[in-house]
Amino acid sequence: MKKSLFFMIISIVLVTCKPRAEQASSIQPDGAMNEGTIKKIDVHSHYHYSRAYLPELFKKWNMQSVLVDVFHEDSVGVTRSWDSYVALAKAEPELFYLCSAFIGTGIDAPDYAEKTIKQLDKEISQGARMVKVWKNFGMVTKDDSGHYIQIDDPRLQPIWDFLRSKDIPVMAHIGEPEQAWRPLDPHSPHYGYYKNNPQYHAYNFPEIPSYKTIIDARDHWIEKNPDLKILCAHLGSMSHNVDMVAERLDKYPNMYVETAARFGDLARQDSDKVKTFFDRYQNRIMFGTDFGNDVSQDQLTVAELDKERADLDADYLLLWKYLSSTDSVEVRGQKTRGLGLGKEVLEKVYYNNLADFLKLK
Ligand SMILES: [Zn+2]
Repeated sequence: MKKSLFFMIISIVLVTCKPRAEQASSIQPDGAMNEGTIKKIDVHSHYHYSRAYLPELFKKWNMQSVLVDVFHEDSVGVTRSWDSYVALAKAEPELFYLCSAFIGTGIDAPDYAEKTIKQLDKEISQGARMVKVWKNFGMVTKDDSGHYIQIDDPRLQPIWDFLRSKDIPVMAHIGEPEQAWRPLDPHSPHYGYYKNNPQYHAYNFPEIPSYKTIIDARDHWIEKNPDLKILCAHLGSMSHNVDMVAERLDKYPNMYVETAARFGDLARQDSDKVKTFFDRYQNRIMFGTDFGNDVSQDQLTVAELDKERADLDADYLLLWKYLSSTDSVEVRGQKTRGLGLGKEVLEKVYYNNLADFLKLK
């Protein structure tokens, strides 16, 4: 992910989660439950640099996080987060887990799969517990014949077979929210993102395959690999309608979803309906945020670091309130009522499902 893009995601999260709810949480839907009583892992984070406040803040929230590699290629070349994530996870093994990644560039080379497998094998030995594929499959990277490489491309099959043999799951951010194929809508939770990242606003690029083409290819890939565990990031790019997610979860037992950067879409839907979705699929949904940082600590003032810590704390609190209480909340500009999930469901979504998925226990 380019720096500008990354900053955008963070600023959406930090800016549009306002106005802040009162800092002192009054949430006690289930006895004495508070934000620190339930163990948590954020399955989707991008902390590139250490922060002196993180161990204390994570402890307060009973939080760990998975650092998800951003493997990106544009006209400037290839960039990755992997090396900085490995260093961070080594320095703070209690806080962080690692997720590697690969891209489709060079897929026509006869040794593409072999080379990719070699890369992933090395990174699994460095600690990767999962491997991510990003939306460059489907809507960015083309093969030599000029076709966008879809995720069900047979040339990728040896890689899935390898990951399955290693019992390593895949995190799949395939496609974009449906709004990417529609005109810019100021009321959409994704307005800021597409305004600032027009290259992913598919509506402006008729050449980019349709939403349906990309989602169909993703579904076909999941179906073709029933023994590969697949965690669909961002609610499988179907966050605008939990019924679409439910339909796939019913159909594909190897599919799971996580919530990163899609709470605004959930908040737009009826809270009773979303609660029913969480209750019904309580073993298949995982907590993710897309939170992170992209500037080293020594480049920030004490006041900036204080603000960053307070914003992150408030963002965790907002999401906790949305999931655990029935208070009125505002998420990415969407006013709604919290879901009021029960303790057991919260424990699964926040921790147990991922612990089982990655065999952390
Ligand atoms: Zn992300």
